[in-house]
Amino acid sequence: MKSDKKDIRALTKEQLRDFFVSQGDKSFRGNQVYEWLWQKSAYSFEAMTNLSKETRKMLEDNFVINHIKVDLMQRSNDGTIKNAVRLHDDLVVESVLIPTKTRTTACVSSQVGCSLDCKFCATARLKRMRNLNPDEIYDQVVAIDNESKLYFGRRLSNIVFMGMGEPLMNYNNVLKAIDKITSDEGLGMSPKRITVSTSGVPKMIRKMADDEVKFKLAVSLHSAIDEVRTSIMPFNAKFTLADLRSSLVYWYEKTKSRITYEYVVWKGINDTQEAANALVDFCRFAPSKVNLIEYNPIDDGDFKQAPDSAIQIYVNTLERNGITVTVRRSRGKDIDAACGQLANKQ
Ligand code: SF4
Repeated sequence: MKSDKKDIRALTKEQLRDFFVSQGDKSFRGNQVYEWLWQKSAYSFEAMTNLSKETRKMLEDNFVINHIKVDLMQRSNDGTIKNAVRLHDDLVVESVLIPTKTRTTACVSSQVGCSLDCKFCATARLKRMRNLNPDEIYDQVVAIDNESKLYFGRRLSNIVFMGMGEPLMNYNNVLKAIDKITSDEGLGMSPKRITVSTSGVPKMIRKMADDEVKFKLAVSLHSAIDEVRTSIMPFNAKFTLADLRSSLVYWYEKTKSRITYEYVVWKGINDTQEAANALVDFCRFAPSKVNLIEYNPIDDGDFKQAPDSAIQIYVNTLERNGITVTVRRSRGKDIDAACGQLANKQ
């Protein structure tokens, strides 16, 4: 339900402390409320039991706690869980829990829909409706952490920003959410367990390097040949491969942090030796890892997974050039939770 009251989670801890002082109360009350909101993920003022009734009422009169609601949880045969997450304004995004033997990874969304228009991606068809707020990103992670504890008896271990949206087009809010996720007043996760996956926005990659972020960077590359990449990711006409590469050189010089490339090999699009050679040329300036991801067809048939022989061309070429490569089978296909499939279909 929409409300005219301010979302209390938009306030920083300092602002909360100031608010209590302005009400003639002690500033530490702000710390208590902050802890309820973030560390304990309280969804109501009523739940803040170490505050007096009057204080809770005063908060109720001034603020709301906008929070997400997992509308529908679907479980795949392979253990993958997909959440349809309803936001306070009734828009819906999706996030996914991917379990393996040793880890649980949350794949979270950063926008409702997406500002970009990758031709192979189901989310692109939704267009961008709005950016997610930091608390909406944080809440997706908390929901998956809770599911991980409930269904797998362990805490969430990794996070990838690879759900709906381009995270670098919502950079400030993504950064704020990561601050909360990694802070001791939030989930206390190590930033090294968080990967922000971008389709490649050069200006923002340079900004990330300048901001000395501690999380990891992944780039959805899919082709290292401009003409091909522009045909499947049209924004590449503006953010060209040369510009992207120079931003990655800058990133590596500043961070010395390995770059991961996400790459799908499609039949008839990028399944040649020439395409594999171009990938090597593109990424060999820095320690790199290439994830060759299995493709999950969306409704129409323009994009088809290349045969294993084409994948093998890539594996051989990358290995011969000393570049780490893994072949990733997709997870959660039966519930449309795999890469490129998130489109609020249910
Ligand atoms: S692949 Fe990522 S960046 Fe491209 S349209 Fe889909 S969500 Fe947006």
